[in-house]
Amino acid sequence: MPTTVRALQGDITQLPVQAIVNAANASLLGGGGVDGAIHRAAGPQLLEECRRLGGCTTGDAKLTQGYRLPAEYVIHTVGPVWHGGDRGEPALLASCYRRSLELAAAQGIRSLAFPSISTGIYGYPLELAAQVAVSTVRATLEELADFDEVIFCCFSARDLQVYQRLLGEQPDARPVPPGQVPGD
Ligand code: ADP
Repeated sequence: MPTTVRALQGDITQLPVQAIVNAANASLLGGGGVDGAIHRAAGPQLLEECRRLGGCTTGDAKLTQGYRLPAEYVIHTVGPVWHGGDRGEPALLASCYRRSLELAAAQGIRSLAFPSISTGIYGYPLELAAQVAVSTVRATLEELADFDEVIFCCFSARDLQVYQRLLGEQPDARPVPPGQVPGD
């Protein structure tokens, strides 16, 4: 069975997938944005386990339990801070997605959800980041055919539209009101 790759809008801490990915910082000791939300939802044991990991370098990923989350595991990856794009940001961001999938596959994880790594506090332009995310996940899944489902969890409706367009999904699937010509 090919892996289902799709985007949805929601709070990643609520998703019933086997693993969620955290856009962490290098200390792995918690922060704002999705990182803060994941730590709040998982409870204090997550921070305890993270303390024992000794941090994580940009572009790499580390795995923990999910504790109080619906997800069994959290994969913490450290995205690059956006400095304009000529400091290796695309390769580092691609590495986050690839390393996360590799770790998940090694753990036997079959479903996982990514947030839009680096596009919040780290300032990576959403459109550019989403291109890296979608193309890297697709390319990596060709080598690691072990997943049932990979989700891009978008926090905003605008982010969801970008991901859906890149995935070739219908971004504007609202029914057309009677009497109105589609595209008008
Ligand atoms: P970074 O430091 O890597 O930029 P952020 O957490 O600031 O990480 O932002 C990454 C993305 O996660 C942003 O698109 C942000 O809107 C989104 N985000 C924040 N909270 C959540 C959440 N609970 N679920 C899913 N995505 C979230």
